[in-house]
Amino acid sequence: MIIVLKSQATEKEAKEILTKIESVKLKPLYMPGTERIVLGALGDERVLNGLNLAAHPMVETIKPILSTYKQVSREMQSHDTQVNIGSVSIGAGNFVVIAGPCAVETQEQILQTAELVKKYGAAGLRGGAYKPRTSPYSFQGLEEEGLRLLKQAEDTHNLPAITEIIDPSHVELFEQHVSGFQIGARNMQNFKLLKAVGQSQMPVILKRGMSATIEELLLAAEYIYHEGNKNIIICERGIRTFEKATRNTLDLNAVAYIKMKSHLPVIVDPSHGTGIRDLVPPMAKAAVACGADGIIVEVHPEPQKALSDGQQTLDENEFSQLMFELKPFIEAAGKVLVS
Ligand code: PEP
Ligand code: MN
Repeated sequence: MIIVLKSQATEKEAKEILTKIESVKLKPLYMPGTERIVLGALGDERVLNGLNLAAHPMVETIKPILSTYKQVSREMQSHDTQVNIGSVSIGAGNFVVIAGPCAVETQEQILQTAELVKKYGAAGLRGGAYKPRTSPYSFQGLEEEGLRLLKQAEDTHNLPAITEIIDPSHVELFEQHVSGFQIGARNMQNFKLLKAVGQSQMPVILKRGMSATIEELLLAAEYIYHEGNKNIIICERGIRTFEKATRNTLDLNAVAYIKMKSHLPVIVDPSHGTGIRDLVPPMAKAAVACGADGIIVEVHPEPQKALSDGQQTLDENEFSQLMFELKPFIEAAGKVLVS
């Protein structure tokens, strides 16, 4: 429930109401605004009704939050959340490009990629160290060595690195090496993992599961938020449909819909969304047009030699061309490319 206080209500009065909410084991939320204080109470609504807050002299209205996800909803917070990865701020008018290989392969590969993506305006470096592959015979990633190489690339090129976490016990290790977690499509509903990253303050890029509904995706985000980590970026990366021509069907409806229903920033992954290199630039532009706050793209100095996802990976020329072509779209969308 959302409890809107009268404009003359003081912080002290608000805190008193919050204490009452807490006393009946509901989760109290304090949201001071410029004009008035808004409170939230999460949990069983019948318990809240028992408090009879509607009769409190400082309470103006009490309204239910209609969506199943609460804290990540626009009902709870109408303004856009900005998430900082390193010194880069994502959301609320800022557009970011995060780029890098599917997987960290060698020191030379990741350092070279970091240098080239930074040169053309990327704000972040991506690269998997732990790769959850469909086949156990595929390259599984360099694991800890991959994290060390990402740290080296981040430090050398001053480019915040994000990488996929697959094990809840790795949270601290990741915090020591990179600037952001990625939760991959295969783990979107790994609730232990969601809770573990929720207990960190490091930003999380939460990718949509390949068969997940938008509501399930936002509820996954709610798990992270509920644990205390508000630094969440939603990522649309394509879903499985009957269509086989492309690897996935990039659901751009989801971007516009999530921007309407949630205050969290949303980015698009046109690489996994299409699985085809030539389709990455047009879908990256489409992402800007439908309101995304950024894109995450796969780039490798030599995509033909990549150990994973080479077919959807851009080389230096293709990436520089993409960045060049993207700029007028970003401007037309009223956003600013930040790096
Ligand atoms: C990736 O980003 O390389 C990846 C494995 O993505 P997803 O989880 O979206 O399949
Ligand atoms: Mn990949």
